[in-house]
Amino acid sequence: MSQRPGFPVKLSQTGASGPASAKSSASAAPVRIASTASKPTSMLLPKTASAVSGLGLDSGAVRARMVRKLAEQGVKDTRVLDAMSQVERHRFVESGLVNQAYEDTSLPIGLGQTISKPNVVARMIELLCQDVPGKLGRILEIGTGCGYQAAVLSHVATEVYSIERLRGLHEKARTNLRPFRLHNVHLIFGDGMLGYPKGAPYAGIISAAGGDAVPDTWLDQLAVGGRLIAPTTTPAGHQALVVILKTAQGFERQVLEAVHFVPLKSGVA
Ligand code: SAH
Repeated sequence: MSQRPGFPVKLSQTGASGPASAKSSASAAPVRIASTASKPTSMLLPKTASAVSGLGLDSGAVRARMVRKLAEQGVKDTRVLDAMSQVERHRFVESGLVNQAYEDTSLPIGLGQTISKPNVVARMIELLCQDVPGKLGRILEIGTGCGYQAAVLSHVATEVYSIERLRGLHEKARTNLRPFRLHNVHLIFGDGMLGYPKGAPYAGIISAAGGDAVPDTWLDQLAVGGRLIAPTTTPAGHQALVVILKTAQGFERQVLEAVHFVPLKSGVA
């Protein structure tokens, strides 16, 4: 497609912004979703009755169970566990899949894409936070999808720039995230292969889609001391999580466990 990548979209007017506000704009500044971070108590309020069918009103208890499981599976970072306990995953999946929202499973989100398993989201964010005390700085997420991981990231980082190449999902994420009023999440419609130079340098870059190689643009846009986490095809031909640390001397690369992510594609659609 010939659309220009990288133009940001307005997110701030809660309720008021229809599709028109998502039109491309020449202005470069990404726009915030809204004010105050969401509180666990407000999260107990269902968006619609159907959105919590099968979960009862207290989805917090189901989430707490998911978080206990994550801890049993080896996730240790309390920042990550806290964030996962706060974000209502069931608000990001189709109503027919709400009952599975807190299972450790990936789920379809439309247009052939999937929301990653909670365990994989937690693992990747834990890797991103590794050796960083306190809050992470600016983060770039490639592949917004339904917006779930961006919401989790918003609790561990000062700013989250999240880019999606499929307009339909970019719009869906905008709708999903609006009620959370996460002022530090910036959604961008564009080709994430190009990164997002306006927010660079990033303290961390996290890709939710797997490519054959890590694009140089991502390495360029990473701050010294920053970490990049991306599923990447190994020379052996399978996909594995790759962690790259940028140092003053160069890049330190680690190949970790095998994973299965949707493909990283170029261009927008
Ligand atoms: N983090 C997402 C996971 C979405 S799946 C969530 O929580 O739902 C990965 C996403 O990456 C898909 O939506 C896919 O369209 C997107 N993607 C693939 N290649 C991309 C690219 N070059 N730029 C931006 N997004 C891309």
